[in-house]
Amino acid sequence: MSNPTVGVLALQGGVAEHVRMLGQLGAQTVLVRRPEELKQLDALVLPGGESSTIDRLTRIFGLRGPLIEAIRGGLPVLGTCAGLIMLSSHIDDPAPGQQSLAVLDVGVSRNAFGSQVASTEATLDWMGSASRSVRAAFIRAPIVTALGEGVRTLARHEDEVVAVRQGNILGISFHPELTGDTTVHEELLEITL
Ligand code: GLN
Repeated sequence: MSNPTVGVLALQGGVAEHVRMLGQLGAQTVLVRRPEELKQLDALVLPGGESSTIDRLTRIFGLRGPLIEAIRGGLPVLGTCAGLIMLSSHIDDPAPGQQSLAVLDVGVSRNAFGSQVASTEATLDWMGSASRSVRAAFIRAPIVTALGEGVRTLARHEDEVVAVRQGNILGISFHPELTGDTTVHEELLEITL
């Protein structure tokens, strides 16, 4: 698809960086804050931020059900960091009352790589459609602690699983949009082809 339309969930978190990166790759972007903005999308990004806040806002804005329906219906989606937590089917250490969309069959631990101060950058081997390296920024990053059947590991960091794919769903615990590495966004756009 030469000119896909990609939504970026824009309730909280690192929205602008994804918009910029998708623009560099030739995609049109739509900021998603209402259910009707999910229509006509070729793909969707759930950005990083604070997953318990994004969870609360999706429910307040009436987006929780429509998001689950769109993703289950096959919409290609990339969740980064808090976005991965939103996609997961189980959160080991949720905030009080926190829910996830439960569309990606993984368990996650929310702050496994430590506090904000412990944030780090690393170069990872990317085992997606292209085998290459990806420059990743980790910020209060989650890790994948349980993998369901049919979930493929796409990257590891310090032996922990930090990127997965299950069908139309990509979930990564790091921020490529902060290092400028387009590998993962290219992989998302390939799913739309
Ligand atoms: N650990 C954070 C959370 O629970 C995610 C951090 C991030 O998105 N950079 O939402």
